[in-house]
Amino acid sequence: MAQAPLQPARGTHDLIGAEFRRHHHVIETARRIATLYGFEEWATPIFEDTRVFSRGLGDTSDVVSKEMYSFEDRGGESVTLRPENTAGVCRALVSNGLTQANLPRKVFYAGPMFRYERPQKGRYRQFHQIGIEVLGAAEPLADAEVIACGWHIQQELGIEEGTVLEINTLGDGPSRDAYRAALVAYFTRHRDALSAESQARLEKNPLRIVDSKDPKDRALVAGAPTILEHLTEEAAGFYAAVKRHLAAFGVPFRENPRIVRGLDYYSHTAFEFVTDRLGAQGTVMGGGRYNGLVEEMGGPPTPSVGWAAGVERLSLLLEAGDLTPPAPRPVAIIPVGEAAEAPAINVLQSLREHGVVAEIAYKGNTKRRMERANKVSAGAAVILGDDELADGMAVVKNLEDGSQHRVPLTDLLRALAETGVVESAAQAMLNLVLEEEFGAGDEDAEDGEQR
Ligand code: ATP
Ligand code: MG
Repeated sequence: MAQAPLQPARGTHDLIGAEFRRHHHVIETARRIATLYGFEEWATPIFEDTRVFSRGLGDTSDVVSKEMYSFEDRGGESVTLRPENTAGVCRALVSNGLTQANLPRKVFYAGPMFRYERPQKGRYRQFHQIGIEVLGAAEPLADAEVIACGWHIQQELGIEEGTVLEINTLGDGPSRDAYRAALVAYFTRHRDALSAESQARLEKNPLRIVDSKDPKDRALVAGAPTILEHLTEEAAGFYAAVKRHLAAFGVPFRENPRIVRGLDYYSHTAFEFVTDRLGAQGTVMGGGRYNGLVEEMGGPPTPSVGWAAGVERLSLLLEAGDLTPPAPRPVAIIPVGEAAEAPAINVLQSLREHGVVAEIAYKGNTKRRMERANKVSAGAAVILGDDELADGMAVVKNLEDGSQHRVPLTDLLRALAETGVVESAAQAMLNLVLEEEFGAGDEDAEDGEQR
């Protein structure tokens, strides 16, 4: 009897076709822009000693208290699938002995994260984040640059009109102590109106109430005191400098004194890029300054700032904006008769060597192979019959408008580029022209010297 078909585990999803292209485009764009800003990419393990997160994120955070995928491995060690990557990057800085060398260190990462959440649109149990961290920089210019990089990535993706940057400060230690006391006083007065969960937070971590999504709490939070009334002069000065630098970078923002961020490690700058296009999952990118995290990992004080963004949420914005990158249109190579197959493979490989996306159907007569070409959305076909091959010619057919020309094989790339429907051929032709105009690339030049 046939087995029942298996489904992906709850809250996980496959990335196929257009969805993968969006996903890949988000990560590649982020990687490219982060490189422009001087970030280097790190990859840390997907699972870590559980203490990396329990120490780093704080026991009362939602992530640590409710969302972690933790288990004992076969050796009895408690390990956790990473719910985020800032703690792992800080752990890596310490474990690799990089806390003294060459700071600030600017790190980019991309990869899967795991949180046990209730799945819904834009919220999954395995999701993906891109993120950057500047490790070992106490200056407000670092905060502004980190935010500018995040903004630049969204601009490059073409989604920046759908998001708004909201910023706040969480102040320094003394500011936060004063704020915490004011919050406790306020929420204690309204204790009965708080959700049960927030009543428990009142003792342990009153700041967390400000971040609550419970509608009962939200009403109270609207009237709660803000940190702005409790900032020390130094903290207020830092915040003012961040805003000044943001203006210099040309990044528009809105101040929102209610942003506290969900994790324990933040101080000074906190920010989120929010959108109204994704329903309840409105935050696409979030981050801020954290000054104690590297110490929690056993390193020296290392003031740092960074953000993480959800790749799935950015992809949803691409989809909503009709910004899905198109799949490349291949050239279909069509041998007519068996004798033409070997020369056809020759042409196929020569096109691929030039960077042209090209395919050959594995079997079938000319008609079948033409049908296959249409199935794979080929932009053009190169038809190789015995007559053509004898003359060193091929027929190039534009599959968009049906027009066709006989061209010498030596002119094939130009003819494919001129169809205007095969982007990789146009690019390859451009590269050839540039090479002829400006001489060979570095590699060839080196070869030349050796000769
Ligand atoms: P939320 O308030 O939506 O739960 P968060 O504050 O828990 O977000 P962060 O820990 O700041 O999120 O993570 C940064 C980004 O990662 C979020 O802004 C979001 O885009 C994305 N993200 C977080 N959790 C998920 C998830 N379960 N599924 C998909 N994306 C997520
Ligand atoms: Mg969350």
